[in-house]
Amino acid sequence: MSNTEIKKPAHFIRQIIQGDLEAGKNQGKVVTRFPPEPNGYLHIGHAKSICLNFSMAQEFDGTCNLRFDDTNPEKESQEYIDAIKKDVRWLGYEWNAEVRFASDYFQALYEYAVQLIKEGKAYVDSLSPEEIRTYRGTLTEAGKHSPYRDRSIEENLDLFERMKQGEFDEGTQCLRAKIDMASPNINMRDPVIYRIRKVHHHQTGDEWCIYPMYDYTHCISDAIEGITHSLCTLEFEDHRPLYDWVLDELRTPCHPQQIEFSRLNLNYTVTSKRKLKQLVDDKHVNGWDDPRMPTVSGMRRRGYTPASIRNFCEMVGVTKSEGVVDVGMLEFAIRDDLDKNAPRAMCVINPIKVVIENYPDDEELKLTLPAHPKVDMGEREVFFTKEIYIDRADFEEVPPPKYKRMTPENAVRLRGAFVIKCSEIIKDDQGEVVELRCTYDENTLGKKPEGYKAKGVIHWVSAKHCYPAEIRLYDRLFDHENPDNAGDESHFIDFINPDSLTVIDNALVEPSLKLANPDQPYQFEREGYFVLDSKDGSAEKLVFNRTVTLRDTWAKIQG
Ligand code: ATP
Ligand code: MG
Repeated sequence: MSNTEIKKPAHFIRQIIQGDLEAGKNQGKVVTRFPPEPNGYLHIGHAKSICLNFSMAQEFDGTCNLRFDDTNPEKESQEYIDAIKKDVRWLGYEWNAEVRFASDYFQALYEYAVQLIKEGKAYVDSLSPEEIRTYRGTLTEAGKHSPYRDRSIEENLDLFERMKQGEFDEGTQCLRAKIDMASPNINMRDPVIYRIRKVHHHQTGDEWCIYPMYDYTHCISDAIEGITHSLCTLEFEDHRPLYDWVLDELRTPCHPQQIEFSRLNLNYTVTSKRKLKQLVDDKHVNGWDDPRMPTVSGMRRRGYTPASIRNFCEMVGVTKSEGVVDVGMLEFAIRDDLDKNAPRAMCVINPIKVVIENYPDDEELKLTLPAHPKVDMGEREVFFTKEIYIDRADFEEVPPPKYKRMTPENAVRLRGAFVIKCSEIIKDDQGEVVELRCTYDENTLGKKPEGYKAKGVIHWVSAKHCYPAEIRLYDRLFDHENPDNAGDESHFIDFINPDSLTVIDNALVEPSLKLANPDQPYQFEREGYFVLDSKDGSAEKLVFNRTVTLRDTWAKIQG
């Protein structure tokens, strides 16, 4: 699949890295990392971070690590780890050497904590979590010192060792950095750096019952890996002083530079792993890879291509200002890619039978059509036979004004075949059209009809040479522009679009689609872009997911 060239904006992170290289910083190296927490599947927001971290490394001849930030074992799992690795690779990136885990550094993190205690910069606190919260103060009020803040170094070392040995219950002791309870930045008010958790860890088993906190872990992991530019989202801006404090106090040989950029927010979409997990757990969708999900796995199953997602991430750019990106831009990116790269095929979604009265019963004519009108992608074969199917919407007995398809008066061209004209409409008892009798003009193959005009070109399949298919039409999962912030926290569920999935089980597709695979979306002519579902379906019934419509229909509906 070709990668559409788009102009790369000189965003501020590119400029910073460029400047650092020019100034000879970091011995001319660029080392970045993508640090997911393995507590869910990756979503489009993570894709932005992946593209940024990996592309900065690529552009500046550097490397990018994949590191699982696994300090919350209760919420994490191997399933998520495997899914994340698969998604990163699918997006087209390869991390440097082995996958890394923050848990690889648990011993080093522990030793650094002991170092802080020995230097009088950390202490074991015996306040309860609630008390710690009350002592912390507020934005307008300084915090209070814990009565345990001035324990001796010996006592702290002893207590921390006993925490590690499992002597204490969860929540009864923790290790805190000794910084400044009066700091205007609450993150600096003696943050907890270790807590007791008597749980099994997916990587370290039962080796540890104390686990380091995220802020403490992240900066040290970055330093251990020799990261030069630690790119993260804006909510970590207020954590940067702590990031720097830990590394300064520990005098680590490497001190990465944390740089924050704004998160990707998309309208009509939720991008929080917690909420996506709720959609899955409460069965509002059929799993993390439901094609309506903004997850990388959902988008893959939906027919999005890696190139379209990378291009989208380039298009939205990297800034420090919070904004909401129109999901139409994501749809633009996939249309743009598929218009150029998707082979064409015909699928009749709502079939009505057409009998060509003047065509011999058993004859069939093999027709060769290009797979793509502009790009050489080879050819496909369709067969013209006496019985064919067209879409119900392509015939109107009483046409609305400007109708450009078949009517009792108007002839139409069958794509790649002949011009046909309706001679009789057959209806059932309810007056519903069930079949059309037509005649074909044998002098119109590749030629204009003589003496009359064909109004429009419609798609069709041969009744004898077609395959049954189930078509899943997807629409936006939410019908509210901002499902995240409308009403209360939990109310996003109320804005699920009841029409986000429509299943059509009697569609018919042309023979070339028998060879379809889930990695290659098609344009179903006049209908949209579709891809074979990677999970459901069988040789008897193909299942196709609509990736995106041909045009942005939503914009019109919304006015
Ligand atoms: P979520 O809020 O969805 O749970 P998270 O930030 O907790 O996401 P992590 O696994 O910690 O998820 O994220 C890994 C990396 O991806 C982090 O560096 C984070 O900043 C980045 N990231 C997460 N969401 C977005 C987003 N919407 N836009 C850009 N980057 C993101
Ligand atoms: Mg996070």
